[in-house]
Parts: sequence; C-alpha cells; structure tokens
Amino acid sequence: MQRYSETREASGELLRMILPLLAKQAAGFHPVSYAVWYEYAAGMNPALKTDVDKFLASGTPLDDHMVSQLHEQHIAKRDDAVALQLRAELERMLADLSRTASDTGRHASDYSKSLGGFGEQLKPGIDPEHLRTAVQSMLEKTEQMCARTSELELQLQFSSREVEKLRAELIRAKGEALTDPLTGIANRRGFMKTIETIQAANAGGLGDSCLIVVDIDHFKKCNDDYGHLFGDKVIRSVAQILRKMIKGQDTAARIGGEEFVVFLPDTPIEGAEKLAEHIRATIAKGRISTATTGEVGKITISLGLTDYRASDSIESYLARADKALYASKSGGRNRVTVDAVNSASGRYASASRMGDTGTRQTIVRH
Ligand code: GH3
Ligand code: MG
Ligand code: MG
Repeated sequence: MQRYSETREASGELLRMILPLLAKQAAGFHPVSYAVWYEYAAGMNPALKTDVDKFLASGTPLDDHMVSQLHEQHIAKRDDAVALQLRAELERMLADLSRTASDTGRHASDYSKSLGGFGEQLKPGIDPEHLRTAVQSMLEKTEQMCARTSELELQLQFSSREVEKLRAELIRAKGEALTDPLTGIANRRGFMKTIETIQAANAGGLGDSCLIVVDIDHFKKCNDDYGHLFGDKVIRSVAQILRKMIKGQDTAARIGGEEFVVFLPDTPIEGAEKLAEHIRATIAKGRISTATTGEVGKITISLGLTDYRASDSIESYLARADKALYASKSGGRNRVTVDAVNSASGRYASASRMGDTGTRQTIVRH
C-alpha cells in the first residue's frame, strides 16, 4: 500500500510549504530531508512532528545527522517495528482468549454432564431430601457456569476493544488516519470519506447540502512574525472554533495547511450563510496571545460558500467554493462570498450585495 496518497494538488501545496522549511535548515536538500519534512507538513506522523517541533523550538537548524536520525527513528524503522509489535500483541491476545474459551468449554462440558446426571436422579418417587441436595448441587454448578461465561464475555469485550485499538494503531502506522493530528478534526482523507459515505446513501448525490471553504488570511505573515509554533496554535484555535460552531451531521475538516472546509448536509443556503458569517465574526473578534511575549494577535479568515447542484462532482463543488473564497480574498479578505443558485425566496436573485460591515458579498449566477 502506497504510504503517500495526497493528490498532485495537495502534495504541490505541501511542496510549497516544505521548501521554506527546508531552506531554514542546515541539512542538504535530499530525499531523506524531504521525507522528514513531508511527513511533518502533511501531519501524518505525530511522533516525528513532536521531535521536529522540539528542534524548531530550540532554534537549532536541523543538520544531516539529525535529519537521518529522525528519518531512521520515525520513518524507516517504523513500519517494521509496528508490524512486529502488532503481531506480538495480537498473538498474546489470541492466546489469552483461546485459554479462557477452552476453560469455559471444558466447564460447559462438565456442566452438561452434570445436567444429564441430574435428569437421571429425577426419578419418580425420589425422596425430598435427596431432591433438595441434588437441586442445591445443580444450583452451585449453574452459578459456577454463569461466572465462567461472564468471565469469557468480559474477556471477549476486552479483546474486541484491544482489536479496535490495534486496528487504529495500524491505520496510524500506515499513514491512513482520517483525523488531523494537529487539530483533532478530520483531515482531507477524512473529509473525502465522509463525502463518499453520504454520496453512497444518496444515489451518488449530496442532497441539499452546502459547502464552506475557509482560509486564514495572511497566515504566512503570522508565521513570519510570531513563529511556526504560534502559527500551529492559530490553526488549532480556528479548528476548535469551527468544531464548536457546527452541529449534528456537519463536518469540519482541515484540508490543507491553513485551509479548512465545513460541509453542511441538509442545510438551506440562508442558514449556511448565517453560519459562515457567524464563524467569520467569531474569529475576527477573538485574540490569540503568544506563549513567549504574551503579544496578542488578531486573526481573520476568508470564506467561500456554495450550495450543491445535481450536476456537481465533488471536484466541481469544491472548485466553486474555492472560487468564492478567492473572491473573498480579492475583495479584501475577512469576508464571506456566497455563490448560490436562486433560493426559493429569490433572495439571491435580487441583489449582489455587500453587507453593512463590508464583510459579506454575494455572487449571483444562474
Ligand atoms: P492569504 O491571505 O492570501 O491566504 O495569504 P496567506 O499568507 O495565508 O497564504 P499563503 O498560501 O501565501 O501562505 C500559507 C502559509 O501557511 C504558508 C505556510 O508556511 C503556512 N502553513 C501551512 N501549513 C502550516 C502549518 O501546519 N503550520 C504552520 N505554522 N504554518 C503552516
Ligand atoms: Mg491563507
Ligand atoms: Mg491557503
């Protein structure tokens, strides 16, 4: 299985992000360096990211030696080590399970023999005292059997949790995670998976959904002024706000460096616009302070919103939201641009407008 499944476009974005990072280091521009920074930038290797962040925080440029160590420890060895460890854990678990199951099986067979014996004792005319002793003994055996089976049940529950953990571990090891480790929300793969699931349940369509693309404004400057770690904090804060402001079936995902999407199934465009505007305003109001100087930064985002059309592919849907985002950028940033078909109320047909604050604009097509 290919470890890197980013599209040409997504990996191109990573390339643009990686080059300045590579340039600041002392190591050569070789594939080993690139692999380290690629996995770092793609957010697919949390342990590597923790180690690289430590270097970045100490201000030491990464030289060839450090880069090969990081590569060796977090990339080259990982697959073998993880496979070995997973195998050992799985073997141990299966052995435990099979021991408990065979113990339970042995007791079940003893129990069934005792039941047979008990049946034989129930002859007509059995004296009450004899019957009382036999019932008492059957009761004890039944209680013992119950204890054994609940032990097996507990063990089975435990094992299925363990198997789930191992499966998650394997997914992480293969870089197939659906969650972005920096923010905890879905990554691009997670977002695509959600879309595919909804499409499958909707005969290939995406129903009455809306899509918002969000991009942090002048983020490069934010990194340059306050450092990459502060930049990461900003990305986390934006993700948190998105996560808090959506509900139910909605999905927020980080699909690129400082770019997010919010997917809103079964949502009328008017509702989606209100939400987009609310998200924009909430972030514009917020302040983030740097850990070192306590300096307070102001962040704004630009948003592009569109509604789903029956002829859309996921690519055309995203591209239209992106185009609306681009209009927000060129219109001055810190704004929402809506590209929607005529709504039932004709609201979008009536005017192309700028909001009172100059932060909203509506593009009308169709
Ligand atoms: P615009 O308002 O037009 O969007 O400008 P911008 O500076 O935000 O956009 P640009 O695409 O020029 O720069 C994006 C920057 O985001 C460059 C890259 O270094 C940074 N970046 C991407 N991913 C991460 C990340 O995970 N952490 C940090 N700290 N920075 C990141
Ligand atoms: Mg940006
Ligand atoms: Mg961007």
